[in-house]
Amino acid sequence: MAEFDVDLFVIGGGSGGVRAARIAANHGARVMVAEEYRMGGTCVIRGCVPKKLFVLGSHFRQEMEDAAGFGWTVPGATFDWPTLIANKDKEIARLEAAYTTNVEKSGAEVVESRAVLEGANTVRLANGQKVKARYVLIATGGAPNHGPVIPGIEHVISSNEAFHLPELPKRIVIQGGGYIALEFACIFANFGSDVTVIYRGDNILRGFDEDVRTHVRGEMEKQGITILTGCTVTKVDKHGKEFTSHLSNGSSIASDQVMFAIGRHPNVANLGLEKAGVAINPKNGGVAVDGWSKSSVENIYAIGDVTHRFNLTPVAIREGHAFADTVFGKRPVQVDHSTIPTAVFSQPEVGTVGLTEAQARAQFSHVDVYKATFRPIKATMSGRDTRMLMKLLVDGASDRVLGCHVVGDTAAEIVQAVAIAVKMKATKADFDATVALHPTAAEELVTMRTPTARHIREAAAE
Ligand SMILES: Cc1cc2nc3c(=O)[nH]c(=O)nc-3n(C[C@H](O)[C@H](O)[C@H](O)COP(=O)(O)OP(=O)(O)OC[C@H]3O[C@@H](n4cnc5c(N)ncnc54)[C@H](O)[C@@H]3O)c2cc1C
Repeated sequence: MAEFDVDLFVIGGGSGGVRAARIAANHGARVMVAEEYRMGGTCVIRGCVPKKLFVLGSHFRQEMEDAAGFGWTVPGATFDWPTLIANKDKEIARLEAAYTTNVEKSGAEVVESRAVLEGANTVRLANGQKVKARYVLIATGGAPNHGPVIPGIEHVISSNEAFHLPELPKRIVIQGGGYIALEFACIFANFGSDVTVIYRGDNILRGFDEDVRTHVRGEMEKQGITILTGCTVTKVDKHGKEFTSHLSNGSSIASDQVMFAIGRHPNVANLGLEKAGVAINPKNGGVAVDGWSKSSVENIYAIGDVTHRFNLTPVAIREGHAFADTVFGKRPVQVDHSTIPTAVFSQPEVGTVGLTEAQARAQFSHVDVYKATFRPIKATMSGRDTRMLMKLLVDGASDRVLGCHVVGDTAAEIVQAVAIAVKMKATKADFDATVALHPTAAEELVTMRTPTARHIREAAAE
């Protein structure tokens, strides 16, 4: 009898687990993947993909409003939430099936079950079956975290439930200032909900460039979204179908839904990690891993959100691929986690890559800032009160572009392309040498000639 039933057991059929399973199987490994909910994981089932479908659907409001300035009359447009949900569910089911098919086509076996560790080489399925595995990959992702328990927390929904609401809330309170909170705030506002965002810090989008934070907040407020900072929800009451959120500043807000998007925690609970000897990273609560995504146990690896490093789909995919190439493909590769572009699909959208101004100034002694805000061409005819922001941060010593931040229509698409140049360590001179593509918004990135600010840190006196 073979010593092991499989060469690789993957716990979790999300973005990272699926990629790892497929690549390992392509390298000839015998692979089993267990998924306890739905194949595709957070990104496909209740993350990036349904979120982007909602975002795209919500944009039509502004498109239709803007159309009037170009001569269009859009008579009596109405929006039907159940149609959106049904069509979104259909597309997600299609993707889910495609994920399963693609894994199976690679030769890996999919089991619809929760799986937990029984030991370093043993995984137990929900029906009690034990599988002996040479290697185990923990790819269990993360889940919404509502923070400290407050009275009435049972009335609060997370992004998971927001994808399945039976009706569009007329009024919604959303606690959180990160990308998920803001994306849902803009989605609901564009579909017609009255939205209040509550955030405990002094401004939304912590960790983003200060100009981006200020700009996005101003633009969201112009659209009628209320943003209350410096306070938290301390209690939620339910009366019939209505909720009252009590705030730390003593005020209260009535709404039809209350959603929290204040953070996510790695899925490490009840996984049998202690039985296998897998250590937790005390700094972030995720599975502790080294640069190869190897845990504290020689044959157990972990990738994606469960390691709580950079909780993004393309990162989980890359880590899964690198793991499979390293362990089964004789191609050792570590993931480079530097200069990862990210987006916020709020309206307006944010695209960002590289350092913020604060980070650049902390790390470099001479930083030139190139910043422009301007009215996009479409707004000149639509009459919409909106401005775009473009910002480049440049190391004055080497001329290297350290960061690029864009707020406005298609910011994410623009920054995905600019990220190649930033990753290649392009200089400001390279940007300047690139001929503008006219008329676009992005041409601003190659036509900003004079720094709007220059920060030179004096060398410390000897
Ligand atoms: C609302 C929202 C929007 C997002 N938008 C974006 C975006 O625009 N861009 C972006 O890059 N990222 C986005 N993300 C983040 C992205 O979804 C995650 O980074 C990505 O899905 C992580 O992949 P993963 O493989 O690590 O985990 P997951 O995709 O979470 O997969 C883990 C899987 O493991 C399963 N599982 C857990 N425990 C077990 C067990 N014991 N046994 C069997 N199965 C188990 C889970 O059911 C799940 O399917 C978003 C997330 C959310 C919540």
